[in-house]
Amino acid sequence: MASTTAEKPRPFVPLEDWQRVDKVNLEVVGYGWHGKCVRVRMHLPMDRNVQRLHNATRELMRDVKHSANWRCQFCGRFSRETQVQTYTWVSIDPAPRMGMYMHHICDHERKKCFKEMEEIHNYMQTVDGLPVTPLPRPPKKPRNELYPRAGSCAGCQKDGSLFVDQQRCSKCNLTRYCSLKCQADDLPRHQPTCKQIFSVQFERREPLGDTEEPGTDIVRI
Ligand SMILES: [Zn+2]
Ligand SMILES: [Zn+2]
Ligand SMILES: [Zn+2]
Repeated sequence: MASTTAEKPRPFVPLEDWQRVDKVNLEVVGYGWHGKCVRVRMHLPMDRNVQRLHNATRELMRDVKHSANWRCQFCGRFSRETQVQTYTWVSIDPAPRMGMYMHHICDHERKKCFKEMEEIHNYMQTVDGLPVTPLPRPPKKPRNELYPRAGSCAGCQKDGSLFVDQQRCSKCNLTRYCSLKCQADDLPRHQPTCKQIFSVQFERREPLGDTEEPGTDIVRI
């Protein structure tokens, strides 16, 4: 059979009840240790500008990182970094829908964890029918640099800032702060993202690849 580089037509997939015909519907799932994950559903402006989508999701990474005391998806150590893995267009008709995976990871420079994340990346690209391209590695950290631990305050991001006192943004129910001052200071950054969030759900599920039908045993937590 002759190979072709033309894009395959996407199958028609009916809208789910949270999805809107006038928006780009984005579902982000952030994975942590032991199948713990957070599912964030967002309505982004109808916009095919991929760079603007990237910008919206880059801000969301910080909110997701500090939404709970996440541990590394691959080894269970405290998570200090996140990796956005795959953007997948589920369907563009009758409205654009996109899925995104986000991994909580201890340290990209820990070889075992990076390798496991790379295997999922390769698998997801194969499933999507894409040529497998290498998972981008973040730039090397300066010596002795330690990023803030996941679950710290999303405002000041001071390591361990949130283990005593905490409050969550009451509008999106995702982002956490150690004080009202941190929440106020972070408002210009957080507000555009906050307005786009439709729902946030913390769940526990079988880690990717462990069941034939992932998602069949989701437990809401
Ligand atoms: Zn790890
Ligand atoms: Zn703070
Ligand atoms: Zn919010």
